[in-house]
Amino acid sequence: MMSRMEEKLEGRKTGIDGEMLSEIGLAAQKILSGELVGFPTETVYGLGANALDAEAVKKIYSAKGRPSDNPLIIHVCDIKMAESVVELNWRARFLMDTFWPGPLSLVLKAKRIVPHVTRGGLDTAAIRMPDNPIALELIRAAGVPIAAPSANRSGRPSPTDAVTVREDIGDAVSMVLDGGPAVVGLESTVLDVSGEDPVLLRPGGVSKEEIERALHIPVLLPCDGESTKRSPGTRYRHYAPEVPLVLTDSSYSSEAEGKKWAWIGTSEPEHSPAVKIIFRDTEEYAKELFRALRTIEKSGAEIIIAQIPDESGIGRALKDRLIRASGI
Ligand code: AMP
Ligand code: MG
Repeated sequence: MMSRMEEKLEGRKTGIDGEMLSEIGLAAQKILSGELVGFPTETVYGLGANALDAEAVKKIYSAKGRPSDNPLIIHVCDIKMAESVVELNWRARFLMDTFWPGPLSLVLKAKRIVPHVTRGGLDTAAIRMPDNPIALELIRAAGVPIAAPSANRSGRPSPTDAVTVREDIGDAVSMVLDGGPAVVGLESTVLDVSGEDPVLLRPGGVSKEEIERALHIPVLLPCDGESTKRSPGTRYRHYAPEVPLVLTDSSYSSEAEGKKWAWIGTSEPEHSPAVKIIFRDTEEYAKELFRALRTIEKSGAEIIIAQIPDESGIGRALKDRLIRASGI
């Protein structure tokens, strides 16, 4: 009998044409010769290298200007590949079967084969199976796990399309596979399942509630002060737009006074901004946030007033990214 994951994967096999297949073949060769490749995932575009090749992975850190203690997520195309890099436990296997392929990264004890540089010096590694046919085919064709952070310079909003990848780090990548706009638009959830209790290290595409419903136990949040220790990436300011961003739970902020301001949110603002991007719902707000930030940067607005979303579902991840963008 097919597992839930196998059933989902069956449905992902279609949709890649011959031209894309040969591009993927070329990209896989580049990965195997230690080069970097930009590729689509359902969350955001990734900057990929062979996760087992320390020299190739170092190129990711220098291309992004990423601090070396911020570990990378390792992308796999099947359970066998996952087992080759981390120690699996029954809870991880259950979560993989429930949420993979999909935006859930699992932190587990790393095997020795994973170079220190890939895991930022930790004894654990984060792994996930992306829900994107091009990404899956690339990993399959390369035959090695692919370490990939978002394909932007450190501190910039993550890219959700191929054009933005070229704009941001085009000079560092051998090629960028174009899979159209990302469907989730925010990064994956990072869940630590290496210990007794599951701990949410970063909210993302799979919500805390969905994980709790599947596991029938609470998902813990890291204690104050502990989160940066457990998930080094959260220590750094992310997603910083060039224009200052201020959060509001109403429909205006006095910070906009006398300035050329931009509004993003799901409802109409109170006054007339120079730029206004209204999303249909929280899902669209999450999906389009990074693109909207880059659009507003180009518009000449002096400040962004962003409406705080409702914290349920994807709203928690969206709020997290907005807070980081605001630099609070
Ligand atoms: P990014 O690649 O920019 O999406 O960031 C990856 C995120 O995963 C960062 O927030 C890291 O801190 C987190 N991460 C990756 N590997 C680990 C690990 N072994 N333990 C804890 N967090 C991790
Ligand atoms: Mg990133």
